[in-house]
Amino acid sequence: MKVVRLYRHGGVENLKLEEDRIPAPKENEVLVRIRACSMNRLDIWTRVGYPGVNIPLPIILGSDIAGSVEDMGSEVRNFSKGDKVLLYPALVCNRCEYCIAGEHSMCDDLRILGHLVDGGYREYIAVPEDILYKIDSSRSFEEASCLPVTGTTAWRAIFTKASPKPGDVAFVWGAGSGTGIMLIQLLKNLGCKVISTAGSEEKEKRAYSLGCDLVINYKKENVVTRVQEFTNGKGVDVVIDSVGSSTFETSIKICKKGGKLVFFGATSGDLVSYGVRIAYRRQITLLGSYLGSKSEFARMLKLFNEGKLKPVIDSIFKLDEVQKAHQRMEQNLHFGKIVIIP
Ligand SMILES: [Zn+2]
Repeated sequence: MKVVRLYRHGGVENLKLEEDRIPAPKENEVLVRIRACSMNRLDIWTRVGYPGVNIPLPIILGSDIAGSVEDMGSEVRNFSKGDKVLLYPALVCNRCEYCIAGEHSMCDDLRILGHLVDGGYREYIAVPEDILYKIDSSRSFEEASCLPVTGTTAWRAIFTKASPKPGDVAFVWGAGSGTGIMLIQLLKNLGCKVISTAGSEEKEKRAYSLGCDLVINYKKENVVTRVQEFTNGKGVDVVIDSVGSSTFETSIKICKKGGKLVFFGATSGDLVSYGVRIAYRRQITLLGSYLGSKSEFARMLKLFNEGKLKPVIDSIFKLDEVQKAHQRMEQNLHFGKIVIIP
């Protein structure tokens, strides 16, 4: 089978296309023929490497995997050959206190596919049955592959952490990111008013087409001023920030009294600074979030299977064009998900 491996951290030239043997599934494992694997910002971080995380090299990137069941071990009960499946994007121990409580994204041995264990930039993968979920036959592999990381992250941020009410105003940084699109759809389904940001006129238009009530061009406009205008000076009920350094202080400033700030990413950097006085005087709640549990994944997937969640695909690349796919994401040219197909 074809596989793309990363042997050392750095530029896209380190992503190497190779031939390898198709893995044999163990007793509790299913061999999945990968039909689509979407990219996340995590793919870039894993390729480049960052302090504090010991990524085992060589590694196969790719966390978001959709495919069909090809073969299985003797203990597998719930799947048969040909089933369309989507993978929960991490291996978990199923034994620690967090797994037992159903909080899989807090697992003591959480290993996100394509980050701490081999992922989906290849033709076949063997994985334990417990991370497989069925995709409705009417849905495409490409669309399904957009969901695991972004859909699960968005679901937890909204339903488990922020829990907004219909009519609340929510602010989402980056309408064009995979997670941004999922957040906007889920918030609109709930009946919230949604403000988001975009960095070009083209992306602004596309953000409005997702249902946003206000899109702010963060390169040209002052975000705090625009939010204050839209909310009659009150600020928003919920802010969702996955950007980190460059946005966190603004996220605090646009929160209303008693508002909530949910954060789960640091695409612009890890260190933030903000005035604590405004944060405590307004009694803002800060809520860290990270991925989501298997049950959150399953509930999100149910919405997709019912046609109520519609991922946006930016572009599709073949496995041997993976370097181009990385460049497109790194240059921020995309709106929606970049999908890789073997
Ligand atoms: Zn665990």
